[in-house]
Amino acid sequence: MAAVSQRWWAPRAWIGGRWRDHVLLGAGADGCWAEVVPDVAAPEGVERLAGPVLPGLVDAHSHAFQRAFAGLAERRDTAHDDFWSWRDRMFGVAQRITPEQLRAIAAHLYLELLAGGYTQVCEFHYLQHDHDGSRYADPAAMSQALADASAEAGIGLTLLPVLYERAGFTAPELRPDQRRFATSVADVLALQRAVRGPLINAGVAVHSLRAARPESILALAESSAGPLHVHVAEQTAEVDDCLAATGCRPIEWLARHVSLDQRWQLVHATHTVSAEIDEVAARGAGVILCPGTEGNLGDGLTDLPGWLAAGVPLAIGSDSQVTRAWPEELRWLEYGQRLGLRRRNVSAAPGVEPSTAAWLFDCVSAGGAKAAGFARWGLLAGARADLLVLDPRDPALRGLPPDHLLDGVVFAAPMRPFARVMVAGRWRTLHDEKIASRFEAAMHALWAPGGTP
Ligand SMILES: [Zn+2]
Repeated sequence: MAAVSQRWWAPRAWIGGRWRDHVLLGAGADGCWAEVVPDVAAPEGVERLAGPVLPGLVDAHSHAFQRAFAGLAERRDTAHDDFWSWRDRMFGVAQRITPEQLRAIAAHLYLELLAGGYTQVCEFHYLQHDHDGSRYADPAAMSQALADASAEAGIGLTLLPVLYERAGFTAPELRPDQRRFATSVADVLALQRAVRGPLINAGVAVHSLRAARPESILALAESSAGPLHVHVAEQTAEVDDCLAATGCRPIEWLARHVSLDQRWQLVHATHTVSAEIDEVAARGAGVILCPGTEGNLGDGLTDLPGWLAAGVPLAIGSDSQVTRAWPEELRWLEYGQRLGLRRRNVSAAPGVEPSTAAWLFDCVSAGGAKAAGFARWGLLAGARADLLVLDPRDPALRGLPPDHLLDGVVFAAPMRPFARVMVAGRWRTLHDEKIASRFEAAMHALWAPGGTP
């Protein structure tokens, strides 16, 4: 482990699932924690942080380009609107974005995610090719745009190039409006290797069982390393199509046909039966929930009590970017269950951790780290030196009993209460007017007259 090169002292810090007082935090030149020591007086000359400290969280599911669509799909002029009509309109945006615009959109988004308490983002990245489907001179141009944006913002990036081959279980080709997404197993492996950087790692992804051939999914799983993400069972129509085409429900199909192990991260997993939850738990795979997007798209409610009781690793993601802060995501996760079940504190673990917010926070902290390929995460030696400083002057947090701070952040602080955010031992800027202006210019270009969603 590297020697300590910088130190900070925090009045309180969330360590190992509880608040510890008077914590000395030391980072090495490698950007990782070299020491985390509670119950020590602040040494002279060491910077005292102004408020309590939390570890950052992983945003485990992001499509950065969809930030350009947030707030633009909230009108209905037809008799019916659902996930599939939203998707057709979203593909319309995907048709127009250039690599330069993607970089501008992603850099702005990544600053928002940092301000929302995320220090790492997993990009489920399928927007690869030029508008007509031809390769860019650099086939990894769109991946590089994301890498450049993450470097500019200072957020960690787990790039997940996506296998995307067909329009549906019985449609061997892609639709014309999906031609920018086309990839083979070899393409995905090449993209996984193409992008490197100090805060970048990579896994792979399968868009969904409907969008990739079974033999390709098996080949990708066997020939790749790192986390392996897949959209699964987000919509009942997808479950029905999978049953009709294969005789299996989607998670059932994965359990029977692939080595559904700890590498696998099942995104959404909204429509499941209890045998599928048991299977996922037995295999050690993780589940990534995106409550803000799932609510926005009318996906349905996942069996959160079932996943929690089975001990399945859970993570959260901003997905379509209508929500961009983890306190809001956790609030939606719990409130969906309360509304559906007409109960309170559904996610708490009586006898272990009665605080709903604390239990969910620790679950998604551990699950998010796995989803992003980290063996160590949080305020502990060897983990990357990431932290969030809560603003002690935030009106929502003043006067709260200290043990209820996480409950207050998740359930009673509508704004983002983070005063400062550190990634890899460096404080990050949470607003940059140049990045905001570039985003605005990209939005104006995308939504010029005639470009309505
Ligand atoms: Zn997604």
